Amino acid sequence: MQNLPLNISQILRFAATAHGDREIVSKDCDGKLFRYDYAGALSRAAAGAEWLMSLGLEPGDRISSLAWNTHRHFELFFAAPGKGLVLHTANPRLPDEHIAFTINHAESRVLLYDANLHEIVERLKPALHTIEHFVMLTGDDYDRRIAEFSGTTLWPDLEENSGAFLCYTSGTTGDPKGVLYSHRSVVLHALVAGLSGALGFSAFDVILPCQSLYHATAWGLPFAGAINGAKFVFPCDKFDGASLQELIKSEGVTFSGGVPTIWTMYLDHLARTGEDTGTLERLVIGGSAVPRAMAETFETQYGVKVRQIWGMTEMSPLGVLATPTPKVAALGHDEMNDIIWTRQGRLQFGVELKIVDDDDQDLPHDGVAAGNVLVRGPWVLERYYRQSVSALDADGWFDTGDIATVDANGFMRITDRKKDVIKSGGEWISSIDIENVAVACPGVKIAAVVGVFHPKWEERPLLVIERMPESVLDEEAVRAWLEPRLVRWWLPDRVIFDDIPLTATGKIDKKALRGRYAECLSVAPLSAA
Ligand code: ADP
Repeated sequence: MQNLPLNISQILRFAATAHGDREIVSKDCDGKLFRYDYAGALSRAAAGAEWLMSLGLEPGDRISSLAWNTHRHFELFFAAPGKGLVLHTANPRLPDEHIAFTINHAESRVLLYDANLHEIVERLKPALHTIEHFVMLTGDDYDRRIAEFSGTTLWPDLEENSGAFLCYTSGTTGDPKGVLYSHRSVVLHALVAGLSGALGFSAFDVILPCQSLYHATAWGLPFAGAINGAKFVFPCDKFDGASLQELIKSEGVTFSGGVPTIWTMYLDHLARTGEDTGTLERLVIGGSAVPRAMAETFETQYGVKVRQIWGMTEMSPLGVLATPTPKVAALGHDEMNDIIWTRQGRLQFGVELKIVDDDDQDLPHDGVAAGNVLVRGPWVLERYYRQSVSALDADGWFDTGDIATVDANGFMRITDRKKDVIKSGGEWISSIDIENVAVACPGVKIAAVVGVFHPKWEERPLLVIERMPESVLDEEAVRAWLEPRLVRWWLPDRVIFDDIPLTATGKIDKKALRGRYAECLSVAPLSAA
């Protein structure tokens, strides 16, 4: 057989050849819609690639984007890797110092950013040591530059294991860690993600990605969609219910996806306006657990099927995805839905998964035994970017930090999380970073931060403080201490003064705290935080 490398540029070239006039619609930062097709996207991506190389970049060099879901960002997904460059997709929602850290750590030479992120870029500029070119993607800055190039570039055959995307994930503590996706991992992931038992794409689909392009390449949607010749609708940063509804209705969207918070807002919009979901058929929701009521409401009230996904940046991100099998369907409608609506998903080709106890012993797939989730596969991380040590155990498995059961049908259900982080609206908050700030507040003896359920954001931080003896510290004083030291959306929703339970080994017993305060934010109004 021919030994041709798997390259990302092949995806857009194929889409432009086989589905050349399939539309791509994109909302700009100013709200205007831009329309073209795969043939147009290929020629603009090629011009973009020519312009990038004219800056003197070399294959292997990194460039960064700080941008939303638009056609220009989509083009960069092909332009940069297509020439052997690595696209680092910086996350504009991170605290400034984390954004700067990731760009410096990537040693990016170019930063392309959207107009409404200009202020962040201005603030960061003095701290960005390696950027030689700052270019605004929105407006005519980028368009003017690429217009000088022919857009007829030839795409080289690149070694398939060469780097293509650099995605950072905020760990439990310390600096964000980079995960370098390769051409091979991206193409294989896209092939599997589109399968009927996964996202089930076809050329008839109209995909509205509401997971950010900077979040694990929007879960690989740009690639899986283009391979199948689907139409794309890019919403920029407008993920509110009314904006999504407008695009769903006007563009005939059949498929969308994102974190539960977005779909809570969308359901809220539908309930308030009494509107229906138009052409929408399927949603892929993940990043945090999908509430059963959400999946049930979408299906029974609106006829929209929810496919829950579980994964992580380290897995490109597809791990498991919840779609029925004949065996599960044979159990009858109600039992099938019980499974589909309450499990993170079932095994997919390409990801080997096992659950083990703390002594590394395999646990049975009986739906009862819960253990650490370990994974292996061609789109799973081997080591973090620029780290010399492997992130795998001796047998080549990556420990996800999640705890789950797997049942006899291969459906996984997350039961807990080992890693000490909080996921709010799809973004990480480091509990340890908040604790470090809180414990330095005069009068605090021990500070513990745990994530508790919140009806809009899925999880929000709760700060529990054990005071020094004699201290009269109150919530107001704690807030005054935290506010100048933390980004606004990391501020705990509540501060509680209590004794802090410790484990047998003297560590803070977060599990006990999570249990004690599990319900304390669940009645918060939808608009809170
Ligand atoms: P992503 O960008 O895909 O959300 P992250 O790396 O930021 O990936 O987060 C991955 C973590 O998010 C997982 O290890 C898990 O703890 C959590 N997670 C992702 N999907 C789900 C889900 N469907 N249910 C519960 N937790 C989830």
